[in-house]
Amino acid sequence: MEYRKLGNTGIQISALSFGSWLTFGKQIDDKTSEALLGMAYDSGMNFFDNAEIYARGQSEVVMGKALKSLNRTRSSYMVSSKVFFGFEENKPNQRGLSRKHILEGCEAALKRLQVDYIDLYFCHRPDKHTPILETVRAMNTLIQQGKILYWGTSEWSAQEILQAHLEAERHHLIPPVMEQPQYNLFERKKMEDDYLHLFRHQGMGTTIWSPLASGVLSGKYLGETGETRLSMQGLEWLRDRNVTPERLELVSRIKSVSDSLGVSLASFCIAWCLKNPNVSTAILGASKASQLEENLKALDVLAQLSDELMQEVDSILANKPVLPDF
Ligand code: NDP
Repeated sequence: MEYRKLGNTGIQISALSFGSWLTFGKQIDDKTSEALLGMAYDSGMNFFDNAEIYARGQSEVVMGKALKSLNRTRSSYMVSSKVFFGFEENKPNQRGLSRKHILEGCEAALKRLQVDYIDLYFCHRPDKHTPILETVRAMNTLIQQGKILYWGTSEWSAQEILQAHLEAERHHLIPPVMEQPQYNLFERKKMEDDYLHLFRHQGMGTTIWSPLASGVLSGKYLGETGETRLSMQGLEWLRDRNVTPERLELVSRIKSVSDSLGVSLASFCIAWCLKNPNVSTAILGASKASQLEENLKALDVLAQLSDELMQEVDSILANKPVLPDF
């Protein structure tokens, strides 16, 4: 396993990590979840990603149990949760980034995960109705209480993240240190354009999500698929976003590049994400052990990604953000 610095923090995070969205507590049974988590840990991964909303808290329950039965030293891994969406009764104050929901949400996540502290705690989305200073203060409180170690954001704009830094600096509070954006061959703008100043000046780390665009970048949707995430009832919106004729055309062209290297498309596309030095970790998702095995090979493929190859991919995708010349 390769380990990278999480931005300007003192944390070393495995370049590949493991998340439980739509799988734990939902698509796969608890025994499989436990086996996958164990496999991820044994491969050297030291970060496991979760959120209060995943399977409405059940994903954290399953991960908590799996970590207990894995029975490894707590200091050898990091676990996250994310606050924002809530899931209780949809009453006012049961979601968002108010001090009330952040403190109550964290308490509930600690119980479900059966841990004394959460290593990385994320604001799952920006909250347009809560002053950013209130959110920064609440996160600072949780750090002071030892309930979380670091806090960050997910899918915030560069402007919102910068505002959080300004408030933190002005009020001598702890700023966010990592962001969790989507990043893959189809979604590049935030990581390759919007956040560049935050990487340079704030030293922000990133834990990127959906490196395979929910499995589309494994190439399997080029043919017949059996039961998959994107055939699940209720996830039509995710399928419609990801399985489009335009995307499938690009997938087939990128596949000819990975074929020329003699590597799988999935491992190639994950390695492509890791090639960006601003990626601290790529969070993998898997419903089967064979997927995790295949995706771990991305670490070997990374060494084969030459500048020429990256340019070839760029010319196929035609979506590389254009930056002004200096
Ligand atoms: P991916 O884009 O890698 O998708 C993972 C899914 O793709 C698997 O569950 C599996 O689904 C399929 N797959 C994976 N590998 C292969 C393979 N080699 N061959 C064929 N199919 C494969 O990642 P996720 O979308 O799961 O995101 C990763 C993590 O990021 C999440 O678990 C979560 O922790 C985090 N996340 C964060 C978000 C945020 O807003 N902050 C949003 C979304 C995710 P199947 O077998 O069912 O087809």
